[in-house]
Parts: sequence; C-alpha cells; structure tokens
Amino acid sequence: MKIVITGGAGFIGSNLAGMLAEHPEVTQIRVIDNLSTGFKENLAGLDVHFLEGDIQDTALLDQACHGADAVVHLAALPSVPRSVKDPLASHHANATGTLQVLEAARRAGDLHVIAASSSSVYGANPHIPKHENLTVAPMSPYAVTKLATEAYLGAYHHSYGLPVLPFRFFNVYGPGQRADHPYAAVIPKWISATLAGQPVTIHGDGTQTRDFTYVGTVCHVLTDALLRRVVDPRPVNLAFGSRTSLLDLIREIETATGLRACREHVPGRVGDVPHSQADSTRLRALFPEVATTALQEGIPTTVDWFRQRPTSDV
Ligand code: NAD
Repeated sequence: MKIVITGGAGFIGSNLAGMLAEHPEVTQIRVIDNLSTGFKENLAGLDVHFLEGDIQDTALLDQACHGADAVVHLAALPSVPRSVKDPLASHHANATGTLQVLEAARRAGDLHVIAASSSSVYGANPHIPKHENLTVAPMSPYAVTKLATEAYLGAYHHSYGLPVLPFRFFNVYGPGQRADHPYAAVIPKWISATLAGQPVTIHGDGTQTRDFTYVGTVCHVLTDALLRRVVDPRPVNLAFGSRTSLLDLIREIETATGLRACREHVPGRVGDVPHSQADSTRLRALFPEVATTALQEGIPTTVDWFRQRPTSDV
C-alpha cells in the first residue's frame, strides 16, 4: 500500500508516519507538508518520501497521489484562536485545502480519503456526551472549516462515489506536540511550564472538561481504517468518552512530573467550548480492536518526551 499523509510533518501526521512504517503492508509513505506549523525533523529517521509544499499546489498534490492507494488528510491550520485572529487563512488552508485534496484523490483514481474534522463542530450544543447525530453549532471560524471538511467528504462520496471516512478528533495529545508557539495546546503548554517552574495559565475557572485522546490511539485507529479500508461518509468521533476537567489535568501533570504547578487564572477565551466528551459507540463498533490509553499512562509518556528534549526546542 502507498499512503499519502497531508500535514505529515505535523504532530499527528508524524506519529502516524512512524506507526505506518512498522507495517509490512505499507510499502511507501508520502508526506506533503508546507511546514507552516510542522517540522521536517519530526520525520527524521523514517523512510518517508517528503514533498515540501502546499496542498493548494495541484501539480504537487497530483505527484503525491499518483499511484497511491489512500490519503490521510491532516494538513490544516489547527487552532481556534488562530482562526479567530485570521479566519480567511484558516478557511483557505482547511476548507479550500480539503477540496483540493478531494479533487486530487478523484483525479488519481478514487483514492480512499480519511480526514480530520474536529469536536469543535459541536460548539455551542450543550448536550453531553457528543454523539454524531447531534446538531452541530460551530463557535469559531476553525470549527466551520472542519465542518466544511467533513461535509465535503460526505458530498464527494455521494456525488462521485469517493471512498471516504471523516473523523472528529477530540483533544489529541502526546509525544511530538510542541509547546513553543503561540497557539500551543493545553497539555504541551502546561507540561512545559511545569517543568520550567513557570505558572500554568488557566482560561476561566478550570472546570471545563475535555475528552483527551492519546496520539498513539488516534494513529492506531487511522492505521486500522487504512489497512481494512473502512469507508463511511458520516463523521465518526475519534475519542473514547473520557471527561477530564482542566483542574484534574493539572493534578495529573503534577503527579507525572513530581512537581507542583503554580495556577494562574485569566479570563476565558472566545470560541472555547465549555465541555467536550465523545459518545464513542460508532467508533467502538467500527474499530472493536482499538483500546484507549488512560491519561495516567499517556501523560507520563508525554512528560518523558519533553524531558528528553532540549528546553529551547519545545
Ligand atoms: P499540526 O499543526 O502539528 O499539523 C498540521 C500539519 O499541516 C503541519 O505539519 C503543517 O505544516 C501542515 N499544513 C498546514 N497547512 C498546510 C498546507 N496548506 N499545505 C500543506 N501542509 C499544511 O496539527 P495536528 O495537531 O497534527 O493536527 C492534524 C489535524 O488534526 C489537523 O487537521 C487538525 O485540524 C486536526 N485536529 C487536531 C486536533 C488536536 O487535538 N491535535 C483536534 C481536532 C482536530
């Protein structure tokens, strides 16, 4: 199998490349990435065909997709605050970019397309847990771009018979997720701050909850979906129904680091949803073999990754 990963130099994409490289069925991994938020070094030591460039570049996309079997489409500008600051950039990369990938998949002979949508599409809908048939209510431009991503996959399935599988990722964390940029996610930011003896900044009172999902588990599901060619035009939640408050998360980080975190509360952020927890019924039915990774296991592994990196680098 020849697999294309868009955004493969990013956090989830590089973890996926590492996992796919272990599978004998996978004969070639091709990554297309413009390195806007990813790093070539994330792929160091992996046997990957790297195409540096943008998914808006149709010629490059065609080169990546030629003779391939499947595309895992992860390339995107992945941040709610970033999209609030510059909605057009997020739309361009995430929504138009998805359309470009789908067109390339079609031109290359109906490749299997798996793509990353996001739990943010549930937005203002307060129902917990989030099951896939709930009314979506995006609260940020980012969430709209992800809704467009999954909707385009569905539309390409119905209009052209393209074999697709859109996933709604929840809060993915783990080794490879960096803290050294303004739009860093909460887990890398807080681990990095705690290790450096700096305060952890909590937006709001910290009672917000999230369904944190370990990156290894996400990559297992993606790998299984590729190898078994799982097709479904309806979005599937990729999380296992855990519900951790941000205050509890800090306690997990303190346990794993053996350090005390200094809490600093600041006002809540525009576009942030209060609670997020997946209903994983459809995921478990489609991927019965995949087991979840508890936070008590995933956080220490992530802390280890941070400890092994030069402090200027994370
Ligand atoms: P990431 O920023 O580490 O990876 C995204 C990659 O896409 C980067 O390597 C970046 O350089 C590349 N990229 C961005 N725009 C591009 C373009 N126009 N052309 C080519 N490459 C481009 O982010 P991640 O956390 O690995 O996220 C991967 C996907 O999962 C994204 O689509 C994101 O929206 C989605 N997602 C992530 C989470 C999470 O918790 N990490 C949650 C929900 C959804």
